[in-house]
Amino acid sequence: MADRLIHDAAAVLSIGDELILGQTLDTNSAWLSARLTELGVRIVEHATVDDDCEAIASALRRLAGRARLVIATGGLGPTIDDLTRRALADALGEGLVEDGQMLSAIRLYFAARGTEMPENNRLQALRPESASALGNAQGTAPGLHARLEIDGASADCFCLPGPPNEMRPMFEQFVMPRLNPPAGGVIRTRVIGTFGLPEATIAERLGELMARLRNPVIGTTASGGTVSCRIRFTGAAEEADEAIAQAERAVREAVSPYDFGADDETLASATLKELRRAGERLVVAESCTGGGLGALLTDVPGSSDVFCGGWITYADAMKLGALGVDKSTLRARGAVSEEVAIAMARGALRAAEEAGAPAQHALAITGVAGPGGGTKDKPAGTVWIARASDRGGEIEVDARRFLFPGERRAVRLRSALTAMAMLRLALIGAGPVKLLGQQG
Ligand code: AMP
Ligand code: MG
Repeated sequence: MADRLIHDAAAVLSIGDELILGQTLDTNSAWLSARLTELGVRIVEHATVDDDCEAIASALRRLAGRARLVIATGGLGPTIDDLTRRALADALGEGLVEDGQMLSAIRLYFAARGTEMPENNRLQALRPESASALGNAQGTAPGLHARLEIDGASADCFCLPGPPNEMRPMFEQFVMPRLNPPAGGVIRTRVIGTFGLPEATIAERLGELMARLRNPVIGTTASGGTVSCRIRFTGAAEEADEAIAQAERAVREAVSPYDFGADDETLASATLKELRRAGERLVVAESCTGGGLGALLTDVPGSSDVFCGGWITYADAMKLGALGVDKSTLRARGAVSEEVAIAMARGALRAAEEAGAPAQHALAITGVAGPGGGTKDKPAGTVWIARASDRGGEIEVDARRFLFPGERRAVRLRSALTAMAMLRLALIGAGPVKLLGQQG
């Protein structure tokens, strides 16, 4: 029944009790699908099974009957609940043999860390007779590759380890080179981030650019507080660069000045880039975000050249003691107020100078993250964000009040992102730009 085979199609199998129980989010199938789609391979199914040998074997056989390429992740660890090796052998109707090369590689992995290989890890050197083992530079679990023949059709089956940091490079090293270029030419993508407008407004601004039949096709995705515009071109390789560049210009023009970065760049990395370009440095003073802004900034490798650090001034006493916020201002206006936000930002500039780490910019955040703590005048979600910039002469101050919807985590994330956006827009000289949630 060769006609059941779907050519240029792939299926993804995720293996593990933790996925079935909802304790671990299955990010592997999302990542694999995105990569495969980019490479022009159609995904026909995602399947998830628990750590059960029969379930894994029958899923492998069923998917091999549907798609020419099957990629399974998980179940390659050294313990008795790691059954993918056994299941692949069962699906192939074969026994397991020890792979001498893999055994040496696993031994070496431990030797390089100054320990002996535990006897359990020997299991990871087993492979079905006809399968080949795939080396794992990040961990002990080798992957496996085998050809599964189902009803006269054959599928390439790759089993990769579950941990994403091991699976991803192995996909690139072992699976990608085996994929044929897509029949319709190449697929090229570009992602442009935006922050500060709701997704619907971004879509409205893009208008006709989002028509489904266009090539490149352009779509939007909201995730992690930002809205990205995704451009995808399918066609001749020699037309790809120009088509992407043209679409990118059109998108940026439509959503300017809310656009930032490209592809893997985050709002944090884009902000740091602008600071670097200006040759200036940043400090932060955080109340309701409790270090969330600093965490986002330091998530970017190499941020230390422009991000000096900051203060988590959660209690009022810290706002007074560490940043020199005036006690009477705090009493009269409350911690969540324009005056306190500005005093925190100015205080951070001063304190950084005193600490010997002078900065040109300070961002301060003070708000009611909720769910409790709100009042009629300052309901949960009320946040004041101030930017103070000292570029010689008078200190420039920009303070704004926001009302962010949603639960505590969403309010805290949006506060940190909005603070970064205020700074980035000032650095690119965008003028007064209203951001989502801004009051007045
Ligand atoms: P393994 O030992 O190969 O079964 O995988 C072990 C670890 O990999 C699990 O504890 C998870 O943290 C991670 N993992 C497994 N499958 C997935 C998946 N589909 N998506 C994300 N992480 C996964
Ligand atoms: Mg597992």
